[in-house]
Amino acid sequence: MMKNGLTEEIEDRYLAGTYQKIPVVAARAKGTKIWDMNGKEYFDFMSGYGVAILGHSNNAITEAIKKQVDEIYITHTSVYSPARARFLRELMNVTPTGLNMAYLSNSGAEAIEAALKIAVKSTKRKKIISMEKGYHGKTLGALSITHSAKYRSSFEDMLIPGVEFVKFGDYEHVHTLLKKEDVAAVFMEPIQGEGGINLPDPQFLPSVREATSSYGTLLVMDEIQSGLGRTGKMWAHENWGITPDIMTIGKGIGGGIPMGVTVGKREFVESLGIGEQSSTTGGNPLSCAAGEVVIKELRNGMIKRASEMGKYTLQRMNEETDSHRLVSQTRGIGMMLAMELRVRFVPILMDMIDLGLITLYSGINTIRMLPPYTVSKEEVDRAIEILKTALDQYIKKQGRNDQK
Ligand SMILES: *Cc1c(COP(=O)(O)O)cnc(C)c1O
Repeated sequence: MMKNGLTEEIEDRYLAGTYQKIPVVAARAKGTKIWDMNGKEYFDFMSGYGVAILGHSNNAITEAIKKQVDEIYITHTSVYSPARARFLRELMNVTPTGLNMAYLSNSGAEAIEAALKIAVKSTKRKKIISMEKGYHGKTLGALSITHSAKYRSSFEDMLIPGVEFVKFGDYEHVHTLLKKEDVAAVFMEPIQGEGGINLPDPQFLPSVREATSSYGTLLVMDEIQSGLGRTGKMWAHENWGITPDIMTIGKGIGGGIPMGVTVGKREFVESLGIGEQSSTTGGNPLSCAAGEVVIKELRNGMIKRASEMGKYTLQRMNEETDSHRLVSQTRGIGMMLAMELRVRFVPILMDMIDLGLITLYSGINTIRMLPPYTVSKEEVDRAIEILKTALDQYIKKQGRNDQK
């Protein structure tokens, strides 16, 4: 059997070095837990970057995948597929009012690429407005509307021109740009994920919605991370009572099987003609079969659970760590949670992993969590205990260093 060490050695040698690796080997998983090859157990509050929304190896998803594998697992979208039709019917039950035409792909970035094409083709305009600290993916189109210099700087000259970035929440700036130029679309995450779980001012989304409508500009909500019940509503933008023109979905939609969805108002989506966008494996029956179950489970009480468990987790985080001197702020909504530290997270993250908790992070000092909605209270309690222990260990180690 391949051991932890050999696994790491082979990946480190042969895999392109584009990922910040963490020292965890995931050999098996169930629910909130992951085990490595030695049987060491971790609580997975990263959940494959927010993909395992219903927990790892969810029974209903596993069953659907197995059944689909036995029937047929690949057909090009030029051929009709019952699994794809069932997924689309289920999807249309939950999309915002009027968004009833979808393009299916394999990832979030691809969903964004399609949204960009729909916006440009249907409005016959080229300018795009996007948000500072926003994240939309790393293909060249998606990267063009992603703000971070860290991701862009080596490719700046190849990115699409005509993208203006505004501060998330700066309505006046959005309005000025809309007035000045013919803008095809405003892209934003209703709640910024990679940027550190940033919630908008209450008036921002409604104001931008109103302005985009009056200037003939499309409003595109990137719900790839915040959607599918993550915030306690099916779509995060519902928290502000608005409806976008286009929406992108990804991460958990395929239940762990790669999938991206661009869904929008028919009048815009149908502007794309035959051949203007396609993907060999997008909309494959396997992803669709898993996706159908994901949406069914969400409609079957899982969103409420995300809301309740999110509240519980934030409350426990506050109780245990709010007054901790390394913590400057805890924040979040539903199962989208962050803890901002007064110090760099790296040593604390490493201690947490050592103690059996895997999380995400943002910037240099924010610990971020996207737990599965199926997490139990006991698991939350245990994870927060680990978090607290890691914070305390940091202070102890610092004390020792100070004495040296
Ligand atoms: C993860 C993410 C993406 C990119 O999705 P990929 O599947 O990694 O291409 C785009 N937008 C948001 C908001 C995301 O969180």
